[in-house]
Amino acid sequence: MEGRIVKLPDELVNRIAAGEVVERPASVVKELIENSIDAGAGAITVEVKGSGKRYIRVMDDGSGMLREDASLAFERHATSKIKTAHDLHKITTLGFRGEALPSIASVSNVRLLTRSAGDSSGTEIELDNGIVKAIKDAPPVKGTSIEVKDLFLNIPARLKFMKSDATELSHIIESVNQHALSHPVIRFKMINGNKAIIDTASTNNILDRIASIFGYEITDSLAPQINYVRGGLSLEGYVSKPSINMAGRSLQYIFVNNRYIKDRVINHAIYEAFRTLLPKDRHPAYFLFLNIDPEMVDVNVHPSKIEVRFAKQGEVHDFVRDAIRESMKRAGSWDPGVGSQEQNAELRAPNSELYKDRVRETIERYISGQESGPGNLESGIKNFNRYSTLNTQHSTLKLSPETESNLSQFKPVGQIFDSFIILEGADNIIFIDQHTAHERILYERFLQKIKDSKIEVQTLLLPVNMEVSSKESVILQSNLDNFKKLGFDIESFGGNSFIIRAVPSLLSGDDYKQLIRDILDKLIVHQRNTSFDEIVNDMILIMACRGAVKANQRLGIEEMESLVKELMRTSRPFTCPHGRPIALSMDKGQILKGFLRR
Ligand code: ADP
Ligand code: MG
Repeated sequence: MEGRIVKLPDELVNRIAAGEVVERPASVVKELIENSIDAGAGAITVEVKGSGKRYIRVMDDGSGMLREDASLAFERHATSKIKTAHDLHKITTLGFRGEALPSIASVSNVRLLTRSAGDSSGTEIELDNGIVKAIKDAPPVKGTSIEVKDLFLNIPARLKFMKSDATELSHIIESVNQHALSHPVIRFKMINGNKAIIDTASTNNILDRIASIFGYEITDSLAPQINYVRGGLSLEGYVSKPSINMAGRSLQYIFVNNRYIKDRVINHAIYEAFRTLLPKDRHPAYFLFLNIDPEMVDVNVHPSKIEVRFAKQGEVHDFVRDAIRESMKRAGSWDPGVGSQEQNAELRAPNSELYKDRVRETIERYISGQESGPGNLESGIKNFNRYSTLNTQHSTLKLSPETESNLSQFKPVGQIFDSFIILEGADNIIFIDQHTAHERILYERFLQKIKDSKIEVQTLLLPVNMEVSSKESVILQSNLDNFKKLGFDIESFGGNSFIIRAVPSLLSGDDYKQLIRDILDKLIVHQRNTSFDEIVNDMILIMACRGAVKANQRLGIEEMESLVKELMRTSRPFTCPHGRPIALSMDKGQILKGFLRR
């Protein structure tokens, strides 16, 4: 009987590897750019058509390849970057697996043009789904150009997984951005159709590069440069100022030895450095460059090299955390350890999200009696805690049904901490969180108006100019209609510039640009399953939150009355659209008991 195991032919092996390495057009772009960088390019041009599904070309002015190397490059595990197992422990190039070109070639049609200084003529190689069709002379143009056509055309299963043009394009832009950030000296250009959407000048200054990719406005949001060295590690780059934060994580970049990676350890260290400084569900922006001895990091743990493993991960973690803290301390902007003057100033600033969260935390702790709160509360108040029926467990929080239906009979008697309204009824008092209450009101109002297509629009006296990143630009461009439905009149002004002409009138003089950025952040995350309702719901949530009266804002009695009245008209007056409670109640009986009057 014949054995059943066979060794797979190379073509099939390559196609299997392609399954891991080439997930989408952006992965092709990533691998080709990496090769150009490894070849010492000074300028790299990426050209795509049909969002990369039809056509991708990456051109560089790097070392080029000798003819014999050029035909070897498409063989499996053929690389010029490592020679021995020992080399694997000290990798300084982006590539080393010798897998990218054969994998890409196995799922597309490839044309390579290259010329190395050692050859008098250039070389052209054509491959059709991994099979070499022709090798011929080509003009002696310096560097390498690789064209990839009809990606996945022979793999219907893969083709099915391709997303919309805007989504695939934004992934490609993201990949170009990542490489442009990690190699500011290289000039990067990206052309989509006939339009240049990225064009960055060579620079030694990372801040210039950040600005040319994400727009100059972003530089105002960044804390002073980090430049920290300790025990063989160095960290450079920028994090956002703690007072500024984002709805999503799209502006988070970590590079290890100039390789863009995702890493939980470093990510955790960053959030730890920011701990207590960010409101819930808000995120910092960061562009961080860690340099480490290549022998202390294993880059061979993931087929597309997006993850690494550190030999001493605890050390890396603490180093990154300390580096960020140190830079912040040096800048005098805050000091998580000591609680400096500046920090207090930050906390007291009106409308500070941070302040709002502190207030909420303090009051929650205080009334739930878990802790006596700051400033050592007196024992009498501690007693009050013990008798309190206030319940801060979101899931179990309930106003009795009678209370709910009679809420209109409750009268506002005042406000505490400029954040919570107190209502008095016959047998209860109720605390209302003014921000979440208003959020609920606005959310439902928006929703209703959109259902009735009755969004009122306020035309801005002076149209506002807005710069966004290329990626945001693609997303914004493809969602202009959605923004229109919500009452935003935004117009493309060429490149990454937009003009805001009108905003929904329900928004009260807020920072439109930040609001639009927050919405774009959400849209970028949501690209996978873009149902219009979902997008709109997200947009409304953000608009409601932004438009709502803030904590730490004093209200007059009439304002409180109308807020409560409006709240009662909503469908779910007691939960904010984000799921937080709006109201807490306390029984008169419990209060009497607390004072030993019962
Ligand atoms: P790896 O990058 O892991 O070595 P690839 O399959 O991506 O594997 O590339 C194979 C080889 O082809 C590289 O090692 C390099 O020698 C050569 N090569 C690929 N792209 C270029 C380029 N743009 N310029 C010069 N040489 C290149
Ligand atoms: Mg490579």
